[in-house]
Amino acid sequence: MRLAFNESELAFQREVRDWIAANMPPEVAEESRRSRASHVSKERLVQWQKKLAGRGWLCPNWPQEYGGPGWNSTQKFIFEMEMARADSPYLSSFSIKMVAPVLMKFGSEAQKKRFLPKIAAAEELWCQGYSEPGSGSDLASLRTKAELHGDHYLVNGQKIWTTNAHWADWIFCLVRTSNEGKRQEGISFLLIDMKSPGIKVDPIYLVDGTRTPMRHEVNQVFFTDVKVPVENRVGEENKGWTYAKYLLEFERGGQAFGPRLRKAFRHLKELAHTQLDAGEPLSADPKWREKVAALEMEIDAIEMNEMMFYSSLKTGDAPGNMGSVVKMRGTEVGQKVTELAVEAVGWYGTPFTELRNYDSNVVPVGGEYVDDVSPRYFNTRKTTIYGGSSEVQRNVLAKAMLGL
Ligand SMILES: Cc1cc2nc3c(=O)[nH]c(=O)nc-3n(C[C@H](O)[C@H](O)[C@H](O)COP(=O)(O)OP(=O)(O)OC[C@H]3O[C@@H](n4cnc5c(N)ncnc54)[C@H](O)[C@@H]3O)c2cc1C
Repeated sequence: MRLAFNESELAFQREVRDWIAANMPPEVAEESRRSRASHVSKERLVQWQKKLAGRGWLCPNWPQEYGGPGWNSTQKFIFEMEMARADSPYLSSFSIKMVAPVLMKFGSEAQKKRFLPKIAAAEELWCQGYSEPGSGSDLASLRTKAELHGDHYLVNGQKIWTTNAHWADWIFCLVRTSNEGKRQEGISFLLIDMKSPGIKVDPIYLVDGTRTPMRHEVNQVFFTDVKVPVENRVGEENKGWTYAKYLLEFERGGQAFGPRLRKAFRHLKELAHTQLDAGEPLSADPKWREKVAALEMEIDAIEMNEMMFYSSLKTGDAPGNMGSVVKMRGTEVGQKVTELAVEAVGWYGTPFTELRNYDSNVVPVGGEYVDDVSPRYFNTRKTTIYGGSSEVQRNVLAKAMLGL
């Protein structure tokens, strides 16, 4: 197996690096660097997504017929690497990596024409309405009801943990359209305009302490007699589970963890140089070095798995359950990086359980970026829960790969 990039790949890497350096607004990078997990305000996200859209690079995984750049798997990986390297915020994966592939595969021609160009131009943002209270891992138990009344559905119920619902233009929702037969056979997939009368969005404030309106991430969404035109149903009625599962494959396998982990790891090592333990930099402590070395090996292993994942896509083989492996280990190792960062800054981290405004001029005691450490640690607890918890991924792998 050859893991180094060849000449043309290196040239592509330089092109991407140079373009990002010249085009990413510095305020976007700074806000992303200062945020809990490379998330920025809607205004900054749209600003950056529009720049990428103008270059044709907003949707790297899309086929060219829908506006994708026509890159191969290695180029897509290089792009992710360079975005992480430059502190790009995460792009709207709900729009680009989740609902879009479902529309391409199962949507009507009218739906493709209506929605895909708006995503590619960064003009509309989406959120994901799957989970409900009591229906997370056990998603098929969902109860939000959609009743057919002539040319429209009336939707009633509640979604929860809906990331970015407070700024999204549209939500893709799983709804119950039948109680007959198996639970999975009574679910439909609806596209709902967030401006529809009857939708109410309430914020949920997380343990990472972001209590300011519009800086929070997750919400509850309530639907009361929300009218949704039948033409906004994707595919057939009661076949939504098939489309939902297809989307989950992208949710689990669609991220490149290695580049972001590598970046966070470099940051951790810099932090350890600045933190003193009995007058010596923490980075000189043999026990610390042992932990950091073990972590680096885990990151190497993830990167190796990811490259195998990408190269299997390149040769046309199905990646199988690699998406689950990478999601599970990528998020767990990501959490470990934040745990070691908390250990490194010690008590200097404790005053900052809330994130400072990215443009705040308060100088933290204990060094630059010490204030990010606790909010980041708290925020990343979510990563082993959403998109299928680690326990659920282990169940999937135990069945599919170990035959248990
Ligand atoms: C920050 C955040 C953002 C989110 N964003 C979104 C979003 O945008 N849209 C959306 O639809 N959802 C979103 N979610 C919801 C997320 O997908 C669910 O929280 C997740 O599926 C877990 O479901 P649950 O919360 O109901 O917990 P439960 O399913 O009740 O799980 C509780 C615990 O039991 C374990 N468990 C459950 N079943 C099994 C099993 N069979 N075997 C072993 N262990 C099991 C779980 O691993 C977990 O530890 C988000 C969640 C969080 C925390």
